[in-house]
Amino acid sequence: MKKRIVFLLLVFGLVTSSFLIYHKLFSGVMFTRFTTGDTILISTITLGLLVYYLKLDSKPQLVTASVTTDKNKDENTNDQNKSDVSFNDVAGLDEVKDELQEIIDFINNSEKYKKMGAKIPKGILFHGPPGTGKTLLAKAVAGETNSSFFYSSGSEFVEKYVGVGAKRIRSLFEKAKKGAPSIIFIDEIDAIGCKRNMDSNNEKDQTLNQLLVELDGFNKNNTVVVIGATNRLDLLDEALLRPGRFDRHIYVGNPNLNARKEIFKVHIKDKPIHSDVEIDALSKKTHGFSGAQLANIANEAAIIAVRKNKKLIDIDDFETAIERVVAGLEIKHPSVLLKEKNIVAHHEAGHALVGKLLSVDMVQKISIVPRGQALGYVLKFPDEERYLHTQNELMWKIMVLLGGRAAEQIIFDEVTTGAHNDLKKATEIAEEMVCNYGMSSFGNITIKNQYIKYNINKIEREIKTIIDECFEKSLYLIKENKIILKEIANYLLEKETITGEELKEIVAKHNKLPNTAS
Ligand code: ATP
Repeated sequence: MKKRIVFLLLVFGLVTSSFLIYHKLFSGVMFTRFTTGDTILISTITLGLLVYYLKLDSKPQLVTASVTTDKNKDENTNDQNKSDVSFNDVAGLDEVKDELQEIIDFINNSEKYKKMGAKIPKGILFHGPPGTGKTLLAKAVAGETNSSFFYSSGSEFVEKYVGVGAKRIRSLFEKAKKGAPSIIFIDEIDAIGCKRNMDSNNEKDQTLNQLLVELDGFNKNNTVVVIGATNRLDLLDEALLRPGRFDRHIYVGNPNLNARKEIFKVHIKDKPIHSDVEIDALSKKTHGFSGAQLANIANEAAIIAVRKNKKLIDIDDFETAIERVVAGLEIKHPSVLLKEKNIVAHHEAGHALVGKLLSVDMVQKISIVPRGQALGYVLKFPDEERYLHTQNELMWKIMVLLGGRAAEQIIFDEVTTGAHNDLKKATEIAEEMVCNYGMSSFGNITIKNQYIKYNINKIEREIKTIIDECFEKSLYLIKENKIILKEIANYLLEKETITGEELKEIVAKHNKLPNTAS
């Protein structure tokens, strides 16, 4: 309104002053009632109005703008859907599904529970590594209960302007209450729910407070269940986790062998699969993969089969897909120097040889065809599903990781940057041994994060001791078996890849028994 009045006055001023100036300059006639002074005054006022109008126009419309984006965001996100996912679509995770049955019964037969005075659990928190099926499970709960499903991500509530995130939370819960029974799923809840501290961010605090208020306030009569998901449970604020809020914590981890088989079955059920594809063998080769990676492999295999004009997806397509997921895209025309290729061949041969001699994991394939950022790689998988590792086994893992660098040192008498990733992984294992597994001179203790900084030098020394010991042992193994190493490397230089079977034959030829280093 104010802007419109200023605009009208401005137009009036502009017309009047232009008219007066024109007559003064060109016809020399001045209206009797207007002197030169009047003309200057009117022009100055008009100029002032113009400046004021421009300022008004460029002033950030804080409230309106935030409300508009808020509105748009609310429309785009918090999508209300009826989920068509059921528990049949979620493979494995049987214990998680059992745990969720109770919630499902609560929603489906809420009257039964209300009569008994039982309150529906308000918040469930899924935590665990990425891609393990947390979102899928939440959708399945909505599908099994025919509830409205409201998806949102914690980062959608992170805003610059104080109060906007909180408003968005309010609006999400209002919608969910209207659409009850509802499941609200908040992915990456740590984005709004992380621990508050002295230098907290005002906006974030308000958003988290609003979430706490909503969790406390709803559900007297509405059947609304909030499911949060995070990869970092340790980051969440205590207030969010206390009873009555997100008090049910369910760990969703990477699938075990059986679960991997089930996940593969779900993801190939609508695909034409060749009889040479053995789900058991594929599941063994994908140890440590998440459900999302397995789904990705099934999809990649289908794409590869289409590209090759095949009618059925066969085992080669799956093998290629696994390689692609593990090592990245194959580089078609790599410009690797012959000298570098020679180093890479010995480096990869070093990993494979130490692994073979120590019987650490089954080597499936060694390759010096560059993929992703790697100039070469060893594809391997454990021959059995393990949950516990001895101290020696962890040391052997480090030795295998350092086998590449040890081979470079023995053959070329110098080392390259190629071991960067290996060193990183080896250091991580050694750090875990020192800080979490009580496998160092610190004794049988774990070292909490807040104490690490006071002991950093000693911790680093302990890590170095482990790494140095493992490297010495790897050097010894490579030196003792230099002939085999060279044979593997030469084979690689000639053929670019070696299968696990071929590697076995080369090592067996030299009558080498595994585990010669402990
Ligand atoms: P993030 O933590 O990264 O958000 P997430 O744990 O929520 O990941 P989802 O988005 O649920 O993982 O899983 C991604 C995809 O992986 C699913 O859409 C599905 O195709 C597949 N998937 C994961 N776990 C399973 C499973 N247990 N059964 C069947 N498919 C699965």
